[in-house]
Amino acid sequence: MIKKFWTMFLAVGMMCPLLRAEETAGPVENHPVKYVFLFIGDGMSLPQRMLCREYLRRLQRDDLRINRLPVNGMTTTRCSNRLITDSAAAGTAIACGGKTNYGVLGLDPAGKRLESVAEVAHRNGRKVGIVTSVSIDHATPAAFYAHNPSRGNYYDIGRDLIASGFEFFGGADFLQAKGKDGDLYDLAARGGYRVIRDKSAFVALKPGEAARTLVSCPFSYAIDGDDTNIALAEYTEKVIAMLDNPHGFFLMVEGGKIDWACHANDAATALREVFAFDAAVEVAYRFGQQHPDDTLIVVTGDHETGALTLGFAGTAYSSYPERLQRQRISYEKFSQQLKQLRQDGKLTWEAVKPLIEKNFGLKCDGSDDPLALTASEQERLRQALARSLAGKDKLQDRQAENRVLYGSYDPLCVTATHILANKAGLGWNSFSHTSLPVWTSAWGRQAGCFNGMNDNTDIGNRLKLLVTPLRP
Ligand SMILES: [Zn+2]
Repeated sequence: MIKKFWTMFLAVGMMCPLLRAEETAGPVENHPVKYVFLFIGDGMSLPQRMLCREYLRRLQRDDLRINRLPVNGMTTTRCSNRLITDSAAAGTAIACGGKTNYGVLGLDPAGKRLESVAEVAHRNGRKVGIVTSVSIDHATPAAFYAHNPSRGNYYDIGRDLIASGFEFFGGADFLQAKGKDGDLYDLAARGGYRVIRDKSAFVALKPGEAARTLVSCPFSYAIDGDDTNIALAEYTEKVIAMLDNPHGFFLMVEGGKIDWACHANDAATALREVFAFDAAVEVAYRFGQQHPDDTLIVVTGDHETGALTLGFAGTAYSSYPERLQRQRISYEKFSQQLKQLRQDGKLTWEAVKPLIEKNFGLKCDGSDDPLALTASEQERLRQALARSLAGKDKLQDRQAENRVLYGSYDPLCVTATHILANKAGLGWNSFSHTSLPVWTSAWGRQAGCFNGMNDNTDIGNRLKLLVTPLRP
């Protein structure tokens, strides 16, 4: 008993130097943090993170950085008028600390303007950066600078972006650049932004060169390996250098494509997007190691997407996440290949079979390969091919059966990703969001404020207290 006591005492004592930077729950008022990072995995909840953990374990690799942060909690996500939220209402809750209705950005249900943590930080003399792997006017990033009753009003959201005056924006192109007041890129340049449209100009950016920077470049899925893209980790590294200043900064980085891959029920693509997101957190974490008393990193999701489950009736108590390695391209790229075949009049089972084998590792040869397709799985693919052949108009006929089977995606592509997921011991039950709470993790100064069970509005409200002016 005494030996056990001393072992525990020594173990706790050894942890103390770590706890100094991480702290535990306590009052946050008047204790601003110089460098505040918020990472949002769109559509990322417990299943997405646990899938990565198990996949990496099978490959004998370290778990994600985000899964190894010391402070952890669960975060509820419902919005004002629905149990299942969307990225606009969830983003508003996280950014502004207030609940709103589905689809609304930066306003409460009565239409009253809510101030975001990015706006509070900027008002307090800090520099602000907003980065995403999807378009920079998409709902999650927009929740930090826009105030609009509809997330779909892209032109007005773009105007809000320019009016924010935040120091750095990075992501894919505006969804609606042209509008009544002119082209958003021209307006941004007139508003003092240095507008960057390709990676080489981004790489050449130096701190102090521009007061305001807008990087708007194409962004494809990590699994498709396009090195003309700027990875989230590259963005994070650059933005830290661009924003560092004596008054501190607030940086939000969104892994927006995690959500899109989960909408499409593409587990292998979602996995790679979480890895790319995690690599960006790793950059901030390394920076934090250099500034442990001045850095806070918060990682959360806005909602779960796809109703991903780590278990499937066909594999019972067995799991094979490592089988996702066999997928080579995203659902998006595979759908483009199928579309091309359809346009060329060559979309046949004989043409599709080798593509399925090459892109997903699924075998049609009846071998004893664990990814060999059974007769019924091949029949599912043939039925899906028939639906794919019918073309897009038929797919959007909103028939309940098609909607449940394929969502709005190419039937053959969705069926291939579903079969691979099932063989990996995974299930998907929706093409939309779910109400599962998300997993929030934190490290650094004031990290303890994010411990335990919270609501998504708590994250915004606590962050707003941490971006007040630094004490002299
Ligand atoms: Zn979302």
